Amino acid sequence: MVRRCPKKPAVQYRGRLAPTPSGWLHLGHAQTFFHAHRRCRERDGRLVLRHEDLDSARCKPELALAAEEDLRWLGLDWDEGPYYQSERMPLYEQHFQRLIESGHVYPCSCSRKEVQESQRAPNLGDEEPIYAGTCRNRPQHEAIRCWRFRVPDRTVTFQDLAQGPQQYQGQQDFGDFVVWRPQLGPSYQLAVVVDDALMHITEVVRGLDLLVSTARQLLIYEALGYQPPAFYHCPLVTDQHGVRLAKRHDALALRTLRERGENPPRFTEK
Ligand code: GLU
Repeated sequence: MVRRCPKKPAVQYRGRLAPTPSGWLHLGHAQTFFHAHRRCRERDGRLVLRHEDLDSARCKPELALAAEEDLRWLGLDWDEGPYYQSERMPLYEQHFQRLIESGHVYPCSCSRKEVQESQRAPNLGDEEPIYAGTCRNRPQHEAIRCWRFRVPDRTVTFQDLAQGPQQYQGQQDFGDFVVWRPQLGPSYQLAVVVDDALMHITEVVRGLDLLVSTARQLLIYEALGYQPPAFYHCPLVTDQHGVRLAKRHDALALRTLRERGENPPRFTEK
């Protein structure tokens, strides 16, 4: 009998490490990147390194290099990149134009204060207020402050590989979110979808705090006609009081551990 070779998977696993170089990497990042790396290597995939450095006021090239040094110290390698979002503006611009042409986004001239005051419901836990939709049908704008995605009044569902089935209600769990700002360019939501789609990422591994953002991003995938990746949202690292590390100013930076002569942190497999 002829023994068959195992079939090569039709689509190769492609994952990514996507640090934001606006600060030192800390233990929370280390855990997420550990899982992203592990899942990719277990599947014989390719891992892309992408610096999410769009916020030019906060991101610094030396912090991107420091992140690479920290990743190597953790024993995590990558196969492609580094890519820098700041060098990919024309791609975001093209996709933004597509969203304008298809009517998925609209200009908004509300100030931050107006947005806060008119928000539909107190927004607990998630970073972006639920916008009341004041500018949805405004015929004229004196000054456009941003462009927002027109979020439908329906449920967005997805299967998270770590957290199980997820369900979010448009206009209740999240509202019309920002995709573009004049002068500044794309929001995180738009840039990350464009990059994950164009880099052919098949699985996104990131922190639990981004679950609602995944629901937003699924709407962008749909609007642009791209196939979304799979998602795996890892738990966040908290201190002994249950406070999220990223929220603390003294979050344990990996380089502090390294300078103290400690060994790289180890995480459990699951
Ligand atoms: N750059 C983001 C962060 O550092 C990660 C975004 C993502 O994984 O989609 O939190």
